[in-house]
Amino acid sequence: MRLRHKPWAKDFMVEHPDVVIFEDEKVKDWKEIFGNENPIHVEVGTGKGQFVIGMAKANPDVNYIGIEHFDSVIVSALEKVIEAEKPSNLRLIRGNGANIEDLFTKGELDRLFLNFSDPWPKTRHAKRRLTHAAFLSRYENVLKKDGEIHFKTDNRKLFEYSLVSMSEYGMILKDVSLDLHAQMPEDNIMTEYEEKFSAKGQPIYRLESYFKR
Ligand code: SAM
Repeated sequence: MRLRHKPWAKDFMVEHPDVVIFEDEKVKDWKEIFGNENPIHVEVGTGKGQFVIGMAKANPDVNYIGIEHFDSVIVSALEKVIEAEKPSNLRLIRGNGANIEDLFTKGELDRLFLNFSDPWPKTRHAKRRLTHAAFLSRYENVLKKDGEIHFKTDNRKLFEYSLVSMSEYGMILKDVSLDLHAQMPEDNIMTEYEEKFSAKGQPIYRLESYFKR
């Protein structure tokens, strides 16, 4: 993703505390923030927000949170959330997914979405991949017993890596697809990257997984 420096980004986010939460606020009371006890679904690496906004509008009984660590990217998501009239079941966190255990209590989340995560192709950067065992362990802590990870990508090597990483971790994989769009599920909400890569004719890989416990 090309990053443009946006010196106004921080101030713009601060002006919308009803949408953007900064990770160092160490928020814990999501029930109070959303004003209900509905399930919480989180996208790590939400980018410009198209997916979480679409999901929040389609599923008003689920609370959605998009986590994004670049100011210059999350402000585009914020602009879209404002355009969508700030759905009450949607928040953005400006922060690093690696700190997810500081943001949620044990077993608080029902579902995690990883969409078109950065592939980090060099072996020495494997620890940065959002499906590395170090991340899976954090997700295991914050997900409910039957909580699921839903992962989509255009990147075959990242997909293969993730299948192995999750299997070796002892996760159960289900609904693995090597071409999601061949039989597009009716409820599939496209992400920005999904639109871009599928328009080029690239297959979209997808899986669902959960922890054995
Ligand atoms: N999910 C969006 C989509 O499918 O269109 C964006 C995909 S983009 C390739 C990956 C995004 O994840 C980038 O915006 C990047 O800044 C963000 N990201 C990567 N690692 C992250 C992390 N550890 N914490 C938060 N955001 C992260």
